[in-house]
Amino acid sequence: MGAIVIDGAAMARQILGEQRDAALRLAALGRVPGLAVVLVGDDPASAVYVRAKERACHEAGVRTFDYRLPSTATEAELLQVIDTLNGDPQVHGILVQLPLPAHIGADSVLQRIDPAKDVDGFTWRSLGALLDGHALLAPCTPSGCMLMLERSGVPVAGRHAVVIGRSSIVGKPAALMLLERDATVTICHSRTPDLAAVTREADILVCAAGRPRMIAVDMVKPGAAVIDVGINRMQNGKLCGDVDYDAVRAKAGWITPVPGGVGPMTVAMVIANVITAAGRRAG
Ligand code: NAD
Repeated sequence: MGAIVIDGAAMARQILGEQRDAALRLAALGRVPGLAVVLVGDDPASAVYVRAKERACHEAGVRTFDYRLPSTATEAELLQVIDTLNGDPQVHGILVQLPLPAHIGADSVLQRIDPAKDVDGFTWRSLGALLDGHALLAPCTPSGCMLMLERSGVPVAGRHAVVIGRSSIVGKPAALMLLERDATVTICHSRTPDLAAVTREADILVCAAGRPRMIAVDMVKPGAAVIDVGINRMQNGKLCGDVDYDAVRAKAGWITPVPGGVGPMTVAMVIANVITAAGRRAG
Protein backbone atom coordinates (compact mmCIF):
# COMPACT_ATOMS: atom_id res chain seq x y z
CA MET A 1 0.00 0.00 0.00
CA GLY A 2 1.88 3.06 1.16
CA ALA A 3 0.92 6.55 2.15
CA ILE A 4 -1.21 9.03 0.28
CA VAL A 5 1.24 11.72 -0.78
CA ILE A 6 -0.16 15.16 -0.01
CA ASP A 7 0.96 17.21 -2.99
CA GLY A 8 1.57 20.65 -1.49
CA ALA A 9 2.53 22.19 -4.83
CA ALA A 10 -0.76 21.13 -6.47
CA MET A 11 -2.81 22.14 -3.44
CA ALA A 12 -1.06 25.52 -3.34
CA ARG A 13 -1.87 26.11 -7.04
CA GLN A 14 -5.51 25.33 -6.31
CA ILE A 15 -5.53 27.77 -3.38
CA LEU A 16 -3.89 30.48 -5.48
CA GLY A 17 -6.64 29.99 -8.07
CA GLU A 18 -9.30 30.42 -5.38
CA GLN A 19 -7.49 33.45 -4.00
CA ARG A 20 -7.29 34.94 -7.47
CA ASP A 21 -11.09 34.89 -7.70
CA ALA A 22 -11.30 36.67 -4.34
CA ALA A 23 -8.64 39.19 -5.44
CA LEU A 24 -10.57 39.95 -8.63
CA ARG A 25 -13.74 40.59 -6.61
CA LEU A 26 -11.84 43.03 -4.40
CA ALA A 27 -10.22 44.67 -7.42
CA ALA A 28 -13.68 45.21 -8.89
CA LEU A 29 -14.49 47.19 -5.74
CA GLY A 30 -11.42 49.33 -6.43
CA ARG A 31 -9.30 47.59 -3.80
CA VAL A 32 -6.51 45.62 -5.45
CA PRO A 33 -4.88 43.57 -2.66
CA GLY A 34 -1.30 44.70 -2.07
CA LEU A 35 1.69 43.07 -0.37
CA ALA A 36 4.85 44.96 0.55
CA VAL A 37 7.92 42.72 0.63
CA VAL A 38 10.89 44.04 2.56
CA LEU A 39 14.28 42.45 1.97
CA VAL A 40 17.39 43.66 3.77
CA GLY A 41 20.81 42.59 2.49
CA ASP A 42 21.68 40.08 -0.19
CA ASP A 43 21.23 36.64 1.36
CA PRO A 44 20.71 34.40 -1.70
CA ALA A 45 18.25 32.01 0.04
CA SER A 46 16.13 34.98 1.15
CA ALA A 47 16.11 36.32 -2.40
CA VAL A 48 14.79 32.94 -3.62
CA TYR A 49 12.00 32.93 -1.00
CA VAL A 50 11.04 36.52 -1.85
CA ARG A 51 10.90 35.72 -5.56
CA ALA A 52 8.63 32.72 -4.88
CA LYS A 53 6.26 34.90 -2.85
CA GLU A 54 6.23 37.62 -5.52
CA ARG A 55 5.53 35.05 -8.24
CA ALA A 56 2.62 33.69 -6.22
CA CYS A 57 1.30 37.24 -5.75
CA HIS A 58 1.43 37.78 -9.47
CA GLU A 59 -0.45 34.51 -10.06
CA ALA A 60 -3.16 35.44 -7.55
CA GLY A 61 -3.68 39.02 -8.71
CA VAL A 62 -1.98 40.61 -5.69
CA ARG A 63 0.01 43.78 -6.33
CA THR A 64 3.54 43.78 -4.85
CA PHE A 65 5.59 46.65 -3.52
CA ASP A 66 9.29 45.88 -3.37
CA TYR A 67 11.52 47.36 -0.68
CA ARG A 68 15.18 46.33 -1.00
CA LEU A 69 17.52 47.78 1.60
CA PRO A 70 21.30 47.31 1.73
CA SER A 71 22.77 45.13 4.50
CA THR A 72 24.15 48.35 6.01
CA ALA A 73 20.64 49.75 6.60
CA THR A 74 20.04 50.69 10.24
CA GLU A 75 17.22 49.47 12.44
CA ALA A 76 15.87 53.03 12.56
CA GLU A 77 15.74 53.15 8.74
CA LEU A 78 13.90 49.84 8.61
CA LEU A 79 11.43 50.95 11.29
CA GLN A 80 10.80 54.09 9.22
CA VAL A 81 9.94 51.89 6.20
CA ILE A 82 7.55 49.83 8.36
CA ASP A 83 5.86 53.00 9.64
CA THR A 84 5.39 54.24 6.07
CA LEU A 85 3.90 50.91 4.98
CA ASN A 86 1.63 50.76 8.04
CA GLY A 87 0.14 54.07 6.88
CA ASP A 88 -0.14 53.22 3.16
CA PRO A 89 -3.75 52.31 2.24
CA GLN A 90 -2.60 50.41 -0.88
CA VAL A 91 -0.59 48.02 1.27
CA HIS A 92 -2.70 45.35 2.98
CA GLY A 93 0.11 43.06 4.02
CA ILE A 94 3.72 43.62 5.11
CA LEU A 95 6.26 40.86 4.91
CA VAL A 96 9.78 41.32 6.28
CA GLN A 97 11.98 38.52 5.00
CA LEU A 98 14.06 36.86 7.72
CA PRO A 99 16.85 36.58 8.71
CA LEU A 100 17.69 40.24 9.18
CA PRO A 101 21.34 41.35 9.51
CA ALA A 102 22.69 40.78 13.05
CA HIS A 103 22.75 44.49 13.95
CA ILE A 104 18.98 44.78 13.48
CA GLY A 105 16.65 43.49 16.19
CA ALA A 106 14.15 41.28 14.36
CA ASP A 107 11.70 41.48 17.25
CA SER A 108 11.48 45.26 17.30
CA VAL A 109 10.98 45.31 13.52
CA LEU A 110 8.35 42.56 13.40
CA GLN A 111 6.44 43.95 16.37
CA ARG A 112 6.26 47.35 14.66
CA ILE A 113 4.04 45.89 11.90
CA ASP A 114 0.38 46.86 12.21
CA PRO A 115 -1.33 43.57 13.31
CA ALA A 116 -4.01 44.20 10.64
CA LYS A 117 -1.20 43.92 8.02
CA ASP A 118 0.77 41.16 9.76
CA VAL A 119 0.37 38.55 7.01
CA ASP A 120 3.14 36.38 8.48
CA GLY A 121 1.21 36.21 11.75
CA PHE A 122 4.36 36.89 13.79
CA THR A 123 3.28 39.85 15.93
CA TRP A 124 2.50 39.18 19.58
CA ARG A 125 -1.01 40.44 18.97
CA SER A 126 -1.55 37.84 16.19
CA LEU A 127 -0.03 35.05 18.30
CA GLY A 128 -2.04 36.13 21.35
CA ALA A 129 -5.25 36.03 19.32
CA LEU A 130 -4.35 32.52 18.14
CA LEU A 131 -3.81 31.45 21.75
CA ASP A 132 -7.26 32.75 22.54
CA GLY A 133 -8.79 30.74 19.68
CA HIS A 134 -9.69 33.52 17.23
CA ALA A 135 -6.82 34.14 14.86
CA LEU A 136 -6.43 37.62 13.33
CA LEU A 137 -4.01 36.56 10.60
CA ALA A 138 -2.62 33.11 11.36
CA PRO A 139 1.05 32.14 10.90
CA CYS A 140 1.38 30.76 7.39
CA THR A 141 3.40 27.56 7.78
CA PRO A 142 1.19 25.99 10.48
CA SER A 143 -2.00 27.13 8.77
CA GLY A 144 -0.70 25.53 5.56
CA CYS A 145 -0.16 22.29 7.51
CA MET A 146 -3.72 22.44 8.86
CA LEU A 147 -5.19 23.00 5.42
CA MET A 148 -3.22 20.03 4.08
CA LEU A 149 -4.74 17.83 6.78
CA GLU A 150 -8.21 19.22 6.20
CA ARG A 151 -8.22 18.94 2.40
CA SER A 152 -6.75 15.45 2.55
CA GLY A 153 -9.52 14.28 4.86
CA VAL A 154 -7.21 13.45 7.77
CA PRO A 155 -9.29 13.16 10.95
CA VAL A 156 -7.99 15.52 13.65
CA ALA A 157 -10.60 15.70 16.40
CA GLY A 158 -9.83 13.28 19.22
CA ARG A 159 -6.57 12.13 17.59
CA HIS A 160 -3.15 12.32 19.17
CA ALA A 161 -1.05 14.94 17.39
CA VAL A 162 2.66 15.19 18.13
CA VAL A 163 4.51 18.34 17.09
CA ILE A 164 8.31 18.28 17.04
CA GLY A 165 9.68 21.79 17.51
CA ARG A 166 8.54 24.66 19.70
CA SER A 167 9.44 27.78 17.72
CA SER A 168 6.98 30.68 17.78
CA ILE A 169 6.59 30.59 14.01
CA VAL A 170 6.00 26.86 13.49
CA GLY A 171 5.90 24.46 16.42
CA LYS A 172 3.90 26.39 19.03
CA PRO A 173 1.26 27.81 16.63
CA ALA A 174 0.91 24.39 14.94
CA ALA A 175 0.21 22.86 18.36
CA LEU A 176 -2.37 25.56 19.13
CA MET A 177 -4.14 25.05 15.80
CA LEU A 178 -4.31 21.30 16.32
CA LEU A 179 -5.67 21.87 19.82
CA GLU A 180 -8.26 24.24 18.39
CA ARG A 181 -9.36 21.38 16.13
CA ASP A 182 -9.80 19.13 19.17
CA ALA A 183 -6.65 17.02 18.83
CA THR A 184 -4.83 15.86 21.94
CA VAL A 185 -1.46 17.54 21.46
CA THR A 186 2.06 16.74 22.63
CA ILE A 187 4.92 19.12 21.88
CA CYS A 188 8.43 17.63 21.67
CA HIS A 189 11.72 19.48 21.45
CA SER A 190 15.47 19.08 21.69
CA ARG A 191 15.26 18.16 25.39
CA THR A 192 12.61 15.46 24.99
CA PRO A 193 14.40 12.33 26.27
CA ASP A 194 12.80 9.49 24.30
CA LEU A 195 11.44 11.13 21.18
CA ALA A 196 10.68 7.85 19.39
CA ALA A 197 8.47 6.64 22.26
CA VAL A 198 6.32 9.75 21.81
CA THR A 199 6.28 9.89 17.99
CA ARG A 200 5.23 6.21 17.80
CA GLU A 201 2.00 7.21 19.56
CA ALA A 202 1.19 9.95 17.04
CA ASP A 203 -1.81 9.74 14.72
CA ILE A 204 -0.61 13.05 13.30
CA LEU A 205 3.10 13.85 13.36
CA VAL A 206 4.25 17.39 12.52
CA CYS A 207 8.03 17.55 12.18
CA ALA A 208 9.61 21.00 12.45
CA ALA A 209 13.05 20.47 13.94
CA GLY A 210 15.29 21.26 10.99
CA ARG A 211 17.20 17.96 11.36
CA PRO A 212 17.64 16.08 8.06
CA ARG A 213 15.78 12.74 8.01
CA MET A 214 15.70 12.47 11.82
CA ILE A 215 12.30 10.71 11.70
CA ALA A 216 13.13 7.09 10.90
CA VAL A 217 10.49 4.58 9.91
CA ASP A 218 10.49 2.91 13.34
CA MET A 219 9.45 6.23 14.91
CA VAL A 220 6.16 6.34 13.02
CA LYS A 221 2.85 4.67 13.85
CA PRO A 222 1.37 2.70 10.91
CA GLY A 223 -1.24 4.82 9.12
CA ALA A 224 -0.16 8.12 10.72
CA ALA A 225 -0.37 11.45 8.90
CA VAL A 226 3.19 12.78 8.66
CA ILE A 227 3.62 16.46 7.91
CA ASP A 228 7.24 17.35 7.20
CA VAL A 229 7.94 21.05 7.73
CA GLY A 230 11.74 20.76 7.78
CA ILE A 231 13.79 22.23 4.97
CA ASN A 232 17.39 21.09 5.07
CA ARG A 233 19.99 21.64 2.38
CA MET A 234 22.23 18.63 1.85
CA GLN A 235 25.89 18.76 0.84
CA ASN A 236 24.90 17.88 -2.73
CA GLY A 237 22.77 21.03 -2.80
CA LYS A 238 19.46 19.14 -2.73
CA LEU A 239 16.72 19.78 -0.19
CA CYS A 240 15.38 17.21 2.20
CA GLY A 241 12.95 17.25 5.07
CA ASP A 242 13.09 16.02 8.66
CA VAL A 243 11.54 12.69 7.67
CA ASP A 244 13.18 9.68 6.06
CA TYR A 245 10.64 10.04 3.26
CA ASP A 246 11.17 6.87 1.19
CA ALA A 247 11.02 4.53 4.19
CA VAL A 248 8.24 6.34 6.07
CA ARG A 249 6.09 6.63 2.96
CA ALA A 250 5.64 2.85 2.96
CA LYS A 251 4.25 2.88 6.51
CA ALA A 252 2.38 6.16 6.97
CA GLY A 253 -1.22 6.85 5.97
CA TRP A 254 -0.44 10.30 4.55
CA ILE A 255 2.88 12.07 4.00
CA THR A 256 4.08 15.40 2.63
CA PRO A 257 7.18 15.51 0.40
CA VAL A 258 10.11 17.95 0.60
CA PRO A 259 10.33 19.89 -1.61
CA GLY A 260 6.77 20.28 -2.89
CA GLY A 261 4.94 19.91 0.42
CA VAL A 262 4.61 22.46 3.20
CA GLY A 263 6.85 25.02 1.43
CA PRO A 264 4.47 25.99 -1.41
CA MET A 265 1.53 25.85 1.01
CA THR A 266 3.27 28.42 3.22
CA VAL A 267 3.53 30.77 0.25
CA ALA A 268 -0.13 30.22 -0.66
CA MET A 269 -1.17 31.04 2.91
CA VAL A 270 0.74 34.34 2.78
CA ILE A 271 -1.35 35.26 -0.24
CA ALA A 272 -4.54 34.09 1.49
CA ASN A 273 -3.68 36.34 4.44
CA VAL A 274 -3.12 39.35 2.16
CA ILE A 275 -6.52 38.82 0.61
CA THR A 276 -8.17 38.34 4.00
CA ALA A 277 -6.52 41.57 5.20
CA ALA A 278 -7.61 43.45 2.07
CA GLY A 279 -11.14 42.06 2.42
CA ARG A 280 -11.37 43.28 6.01
CA ARG A 281 -10.28 46.74 4.93
CA ALA A 282 -12.93 46.67 2.24
CA GLY A 283 -15.47 45.91 4.98
P1 NAD B 1 13.88 26.55 15.02
O1 NAD B 1 15.32 26.25 14.88
O2 NAD B 1 13.43 27.87 15.53
O3 NAD B 1 13.21 25.43 15.94
C1 NAD B 1 13.55 24.08 15.83
C2 NAD B 1 12.87 23.33 16.95
O4 NAD B 1 13.17 21.96 16.82
C3 NAD B 1 13.31 23.76 18.35
O5 NAD B 1 12.18 24.00 19.14
C4 NAD B 1 14.10 22.56 18.87
O6 NAD B 1 13.87 22.35 20.27
C5 NAD B 1 13.55 21.41 18.06
N1 NAD B 1 14.57 20.40 17.83
C6 NAD B 1 15.79 20.57 17.29
N2 NAD B 1 16.46 19.40 17.28
C7 NAD B 1 15.63 18.47 17.80
C8 NAD B 1 15.75 17.09 18.06
N3 NAD B 1 16.86 16.42 17.75
N4 NAD B 1 14.70 16.47 18.61
C9 NAD B 1 13.56 17.11 18.93
N5 NAD B 1 13.41 18.43 18.71
C10 NAD B 1 14.44 19.10 18.16
O7 NAD B 1 13.27 26.25 13.59
P2 NAD B 1 11.87 26.70 12.91
O8 NAD B 1 11.99 28.09 12.45
O9 NAD B 1 10.73 26.28 13.76
O10 NAD B 1 11.95 25.75 11.62
C11 NAD B 1 12.00 24.35 11.73
C12 NAD B 1 12.28 23.73 10.39
O11 NAD B 1 11.21 24.04 9.52
C13 NAD B 1 13.53 24.24 9.67
O12 NAD B 1 14.08 23.20 8.90
C14 NAD B 1 13.01 25.33 8.76
O13 NAD B 1 13.82 25.53 7.63
C15 NAD B 1 11.69 24.74 8.37
N6 NAD B 1 10.67 25.72 7.98
C16 NAD B 1 9.98 25.42 6.86
C17 NAD B 1 8.99 26.27 6.45
C18 NAD B 1 8.23 25.91 5.22
O14 NAD B 1 7.57 26.75 4.65
N7 NAD B 1 8.25 24.64 4.80
C19 NAD B 1 8.70 27.43 7.15
C20 NAD B 1 9.41 27.69 8.32
C21 NAD B 1 10.40 26.80 8.73
